[in-house]
Amino acid sequence: MKHKTDKTKPEFWKMWKVLQYAVMDMALYTKLEFDEQIVITSIFRDIVEGRKLSVHNFWRGIDIRSRNFTKPQIDAILDYVNKRWVYDPSRPILKVIQYHCVAGSAWHFHVQVHKKTVFRGE
Ligand SMILES: [Zn+2]
Repeated sequence: MKHKTDKTKPEFWKMWKVLQYAVMDMALYTKLEFDEQIVITSIFRDIVEGRKLSVHNFWRGIDIRSRNFTKPQIDAILDYVNKRWVYDPSRPILKVIQYHCVAGSAWHFHVQVHKKTVFRGE
């Protein structure tokens, strides 16, 4: 597991515990399956007046680089993580891991948890 900047190193351990576990699960998968490490790009963001709130304001969201993976690898990662981690069983539309780009940012993985998030792996 790597960090783009030093800012996220201590932040990782302040995230919700279930998010730490989900990301460590993802990191182990990418290392063992593709011999590729994940790169954390963003975790905590301060609340800014007038800006929409996000899970990043509450230590339950993290962004991870995707450009070091091929498209089939990205699809496999999404599938693996979302099969093992369920964001909220009562709202199956919402996912623990998404691959998206928002407001002109680069495409990346966004991983998020909720108080109802559960592990469904074995
Ligand atoms: Zn995000």
